[in-house]
Amino acid sequence: MRIVIVGAGPAGLYFALLMKRQDASHEVTILERDGPDDTFGWGIVFSDQTFDYLRESDAPSYAAITGACEKWDNVDIVHRSERISVRGNRFSGVARIRFLNILQDRCRELGVDLRFHQPVTDLPALPRCDVLVGADGANSTVRRMREPLFQPTIEHGRNKYIWLGTPKLFHGLTLTFVDHPTGVYAAHSYRFDSATSTFIVECSEATWRAARLDAMGEQETCAWLEEIFRDHLGGQPLLTKNFVKWLNFPLVRNARWYGDDVVLLGDALHTAHFSIGSGTKLALEDAIVLSQAFARAQTSAAALPLFEEMRRPRVEQYQQAAMDSLRWFEQMGEYMHLAPLAFAVEAMTRSKRVDVEKLKQRDPVFAARAAEFLTGDQEIKSALGLDKRSGDQENL
Ligand SMILES: Cc1cc2nc3c(=O)[nH]c(=O)nc-3n(C[C@H](O)[C@H](O)[C@H](O)COP(=O)(O)OP(=O)(O)OC[C@H]3O[C@@H](n4cnc5c(N)ncnc54)[C@H](O)[C@@H]3O)c2cc1C
Repeated sequence: MRIVIVGAGPAGLYFALLMKRQDASHEVTILERDGPDDTFGWGIVFSDQTFDYLRESDAPSYAAITGACEKWDNVDIVHRSERISVRGNRFSGVARIRFLNILQDRCRELGVDLRFHQPVTDLPALPRCDVLVGADGANSTVRRMREPLFQPTIEHGRNKYIWLGTPKLFHGLTLTFVDHPTGVYAAHSYRFDSATSTFIVECSEATWRAARLDAMGEQETCAWLEEIFRDHLGGQPLLTKNFVKWLNFPLVRNARWYGDDVVLLGDALHTAHFSIGSGTKLALEDAIVLSQAFARAQTSAAALPLFEEMRRPRVEQYQQAAMDSLRWFEQMGEYMHLAPLAFAVEAMTRSKRVDVEKLKQRDPVFAARAAEFLTGDQEIKSALGLDKRSGDQENL
């Protein structure tokens, strides 16, 4: 089979290597716009369960990835400068570029034809193939060029966010909230190697404008945010990479997932807000399920519908959880009056997929503290009004 993949992100690379593993005679070509060491963003997090899938799918890359990861089990919620730790949330963090380099090496080892600095602008000009995979991210060119086929909808989150780094090492996934005269700021931070943490900041557009962040350049932006989070950064600076500007998170969905031997994968197909740390996981799982569909059905005509049938329900479940989490961050100002413990419970249950029982299983000490408060505190009672909140996802 001849397979052409547009985009060497997690989805494209993992699908390529799985197809080569399945049958070394497949001709697999990846066309990537950037170079092998260019990437946006800093570190990414995974829930532990992701790794079970990776181990079963390709043991060598699994071993390299886990060897490159920082691991922790705490989510820390920092509100009014009080840190509340919730344990039992298994996460791993890795530098995005390190992760991509591992997958690139594995692709080369298996004989994937990896072509960098090859921006795709025109689908008919692509090499002939049995299946074309659009794994070219949230702003997918493949999707745009076949818009009538895929019928995408792209909404944007209301908050502004910026993806920064810092040498301050945050052990665990730390969510820091700061109430400032210009508005409320949230930082999502975690260490992903021995020297660096990811530091993503989000705030409402009103806050962003009140702070004049719309008019600031790179240095001013970092200086402003270093001041906002001064007590939490311990004097360390914020770092930029190819100064990524403030963005609104794009919520991508597609009415159709495939057609005419073209299929979308990863962020080109669906996005999930970074606050549930699942975008890369979903991209990798897409690759696994699409390769399984090909193993069962052999031809594109049979494999692509099977892929959608096997995958769509799970993706929609995650997108809903991610949407609930995104909306929570858009309304975070409404919770700032809560005491730190009540606030932490609200934050931990924001995706509506983590309930009291799950918190008890993860961290009985935290759950007991919250329960003790619960008897007397109406605010906590309403924060814990979780009887309708339940689900099966592991780390949302
Ligand atoms: C702020 C932020 C934080 C995040 N944090 C996490 C996290 O902690 N954990 C997590 O799991 N996920 C996280 N994500 C999501 C994650 O980055 C994506 O879900 C994931 O990268 C999707 O993989 P992908 O392969 O589908 O797309 P991408 O990683 O976007 O890769 C697409 C590739 O296609 C290439 N490309 C694009 N257009 C063309 C073209 N025309 N021709 C050729 N090549 C092209 C691009 O250069 C890129 O290499 C985060 C996202 C954001 C925005």
